[in-house]
Amino acid sequence: MRSRRALPVLTAVLLGALHSGARAEEEIRMAVARVNGLVSVSGTDLAAEDIVTGDVLAQGKRVITVGADDAGLTVMGKPTRARRVIIGGKEGVAYGGRLFRGRLEALFQKVRGRSQVLLVHPLPLETYLVGIVSGELPPSWPLEAMKAQAVAARTYAVYQKFHAPDRPYHMESGVLDQVYGGVQRENATARAAVAATTGQVLTWRRRPIRAYFHACCGDTTESAEDGWGTTEPYLKVVACGFCKDCGRYTWTLKLTPTELGDALREARLDVGAVQDVTVPRRTRTGRAAMVAVAGSARTRTMHAEDLRRILGYDRLRSRMFTVKREGGNLVFDGKGSGHAVGLCQWGARGMGQQGMDYRTILGRYYSGARIMRMY
Ligand SMILES: [Zn+2]
Repeated sequence: MRSRRALPVLTAVLLGALHSGARAEEEIRMAVARVNGLVSVSGTDLAAEDIVTGDVLAQGKRVITVGADDAGLTVMGKPTRARRVIIGGKEGVAYGGRLFRGRLEALFQKVRGRSQVLLVHPLPLETYLVGIVSGELPPSWPLEAMKAQAVAARTYAVYQKFHAPDRPYHMESGVLDQVYGGVQRENATARAAVAATTGQVLTWRRRPIRAYFHACCGDTTESAEDGWGTTEPYLKVVACGFCKDCGRYTWTLKLTPTELGDALREARLDVGAVQDVTVPRRTRTGRAAMVAVAGSARTRTMHAEDLRRILGYDRLRSRMFTVKREGGNLVFDGKGSGHAVGLCQWGARGMGQQGMDYRTILGRYYSGARIMRMY
């Protein structure tokens, strides 16, 4: 993997339509919340302005509330008909316990006939990455592992931006995309890792790759094909072997048949009283592909990833599990944590501890991808 070259083609493809040339201050728009009721933003000397008309809707406040009625946004309880309101303050803005630098945007949306406020935080990509790397990994981890995470996260963000240019935002801020901790959670190692890799992205044929990452593969990563049926050539099965220290390298989940039955009923997949759980199909790495739940009313066969969603991703931690009946319980014995596609974070930590650099780490998990500089 090489990187010291500029990236004219990618830059043109990626950024040309949006801006004139690649810039270090490339912006990313992160969705912070979708709210049906009132959004309450706090700070010092806050002001709210209609982006379209330039009308100042509130100023000099410590708290600004925004809601949505049929015709547009309401600010401090007053209807404004505005559809896009910007809120800024002297020392950043806070929402939901997180502090944001710069500004937040409140956007009016109608979802299934209901008016809603979508809160978006626009920020420079490199600043965003410091928040992401800080949110994903603890500061005590090796710098090279943090650098690998920074490049993967930058690539993921750029890919999302490239493929959703018309959406009002590019990224979610929770576990669905990447974990953004806000300004308070930023740490010095993450800042150094982002600065040391400024502008670097992973590419395949000069385009940014889908740089998925996960916590702990449990020894072998999963291919994109077996993970979710796509065919990215750089997301292959990789022997990891460096993540044995992860807290979830092996785990056990015990459920009563009633607990599983209730969870399925809540997900509208009722089977009656649960009698047995089997795995009729596994992927080449041995992960559960399909899971069959036999109940008194019927048997349902579902994707193992759907069962993870239904039971909670932090309970059924991965698809690398076996299941048995034991003393009236259903016992899932598993390995690893997360979807296991792409970079294994604990594996990157293990490689970093053994003195390997971030290029070696990325080369292991994204087979054949090249690092290039976007700016
Ligand atoms: Zn691993």
